Amino acid sequence: MKIFKDKHILQREISKTKGISFVPTMGGLHKGHISLIKQSKKSKFKTLVSIFVNPKQFNKKSDYRSYPRSPKKDLKKLKNLKVDYLYIPTFKDIYGFKPKEKVFLDKFSIKLCGRFRRGHFEGVLNVINRFLEIIKPKYIFLGKKDYQQLYLIKKHIKKRKIKSKVIECKTIRENNGVALSTRNSSLDENQMKIASNIYYYLHNLKKKIKNDYNLFNLNKIKKDLKNLGVSKIDYLENYNTKNFKKIKKQSKKFNIFIAYYIKNIRLIDNI
Ligand code: AMP
Repeated sequence: MKIFKDKHILQREISKTKGISFVPTMGGLHKGHISLIKQSKKSKFKTLVSIFVNPKQFNKKSDYRSYPRSPKKDLKKLKNLKVDYLYIPTFKDIYGFKPKEKVFLDKFSIKLCGRFRRGHFEGVLNVINRFLEIIKPKYIFLGKKDYQQLYLIKKHIKKRKIKSKVIECKTIRENNGVALSTRNSSLDENQMKIASNIYYYLHNLKKKIKNDYNLFNLNKIKKDLKNLGVSKIDYLENYNTKNFKKIKKQSKKFNIFIAYYIKNIRLIDNI
């Protein structure tokens, strides 16, 4: 595995290849990231993984500082996976130039997480736009765990006519149902149990409201979730996962989107 910290040296190396399959991450690698990397490795191109904790997508400085980082473990995992290239840029390498393309921010960015994390998606698209310009990947692998992010990146790529294809990857879960997340490392055993109970609650709720949407009683659901150990709910809404229209009545193709807190740990999921 070749490691790069400088985009110019990276670009020189990439120019010798047929193309790149790109997996952007913020490190703290887990089985979710690994499944993206394994899918990327099945493509006919060399796999490039980036690790960059992007300060611009954190709406609180304290959250950026306390975001779980595990550089040594990450390196070991990537070497074991026989990843071709690892890009660990500095802030200046990413933000020290003016990108050719302007960020396109679809109006869906003000919904869900956009309502509660001001500037978050502007920050995500800013960094992705720069990565796409530096790497010009054939494929970019993104997880459905962050479905709103995936949708907004797809919209940006389409609008700006960028020639990278988004590969949507399914959410990887623990045996207890909880979606893998770097932030899970902050959960203690009891909090993990709470997260698991919430997953099963929402999983069953989805089954019920598929048959009878009248059972979607938000006040009751919020009360139930609080009783299960949720400290705060940012949102709980149902969206069609193809067009991101909000579901208001019986539907077959939708997910329940949630952002909630257990103590001060914020978790998101879509089920
Ligand atoms: P992050 O390091 O959290 O920015 O995530 C990097 C990529 O991994 C994003 O495309 C995420 O959607 C994806 N990802 C994170 N968690 C999971 C998961 N549990 N299953 C599948 N993909 C995931």
